[in-house]
Order: sequence, then C-alpha cells, then structure tokens
Amino acid sequence: MAIQGDVREHRRILQQLGVDAPEVRTPADLEGVDGLVIPGGESTTIGLLMDEAGLVSVLRTRITGGFPVYGTCAGLILLARDVEGPEPRRIGLMDITAARNAFGRQIASFEARVPIPVLGAEPFPAVFIRAPRVTRVGPGVRPLAYWQGEVVMAEEGSMLVSSFHPELTADLRVHEYFLRKVTAYVERETMQAKG
Ligand code: GLN
Repeated sequence: MAIQGDVREHRRILQQLGVDAPEVRTPADLEGVDGLVIPGGESTTIGLLMDEAGLVSVLRTRITGGFPVYGTCAGLILLARDVEGPEPRRIGLMDITAARNAFGRQIASFEARVPIPVLGAEPFPAVFIRAPRVTRVGPGVRPLAYWQGEVVMAEEGSMLVSSFHPELTADLRVHEYFLRKVTAYVERETMQAKG
C-alpha cells in the first residue's frame, strides 16, 4: 500500500525476497495482486486516503475472502477492529484492540530482541517507533510474539500484524513468514479456479 509511510523499505525487502511488489493506491491497482502490506506511517492519513480511494470497502471484501494482508505499526491500527483514543478510518477486521502511540509515551522509539518462535530460535531485531500497544486479543487471534508481556505480533486467518517495523532491519524472516500466507492463498485460488 503506497499511500503514505515507509513504503520503500517494505518494497526493498519484498524485492530482496524475489517478489514483484507493485505500488497500490487504488482498487484497480489490486488487480493481479496476491497480498498486501500496509506500512508504518500515520494511520489517520493512510486510513483517510485509503477510504477516499475506495480501498477500505474493497479490501474488507477481499480480506473476508482470505486475501493476505500484513499491517506494521500504523497498518496494525488500520486492521484493528477496536482502537482506543482517536479512531482513524480503517479496515477494522482483526479482532484486536489497539492503543495508539502507547509504547511511545515513555520512549519514542527503541529496538528490542524479540523471540518469535514461528521464525526460529534466533530472536528478531524489532524496531518500535511510536508503536501501538495491543490491549485486547480476541479468541480467534493467535499471538506470535510478546515483548515485556505484551503482544507485539499476531495473526488471524490471512491477517498478520506487528507493532514493530521489520522493514527497517536486514532480517527478512517476518516478510518471509507473510509470503507463506500469500503462497497458500495463491495455491487455494488456483485450485478453486481449476474446480
Ligand atoms: N503512531 C502512529 C499512528 O498512530 C504509528 C506509528 C508508526 O507507524 N510508526 O499511526
């Protein structure tokens, strides 16, 4: 999603992983696209422009049908069903509550080595920048990583979120993990097309 935020960094990682990562700004841009990353940035701005472009309703329908989407930081807020404090316009399909800028009140940004069992034994160098805090996780949501007792990465069906920014590191594992969802989605769609 190339509306605002650190689009270039996500594309760089996806391209390193051999993925064609076209920029999405309108519903028409989604044609032929098998997964979407919503970057970190300013969720109020991204949500407003997404909604004005008609992307919010199109994405709600697509994601409900299993389309993979990964939201980092602002992207997590845009996927959260509930938001504490000022609520941006958003997709709002993931059964979590996000509190905006919650980590940032004490320290604006920091890096932590976060264990993420689904990515292997080596902890992940997680960069947090005015990160949202996940204050509630619904029963269908699977937490994938915790930092200081708080959920910082989670998934629900085809939706993946992290409150940190893997696109700002050289570690490709979170994006690789998301690409597994994309591959599974493409395989399912191909099977269905074949009947
Ligand atoms: N605080 C930002 C917001 O509410 C998110 C910060 C980020 O994406 N780095 O949108």
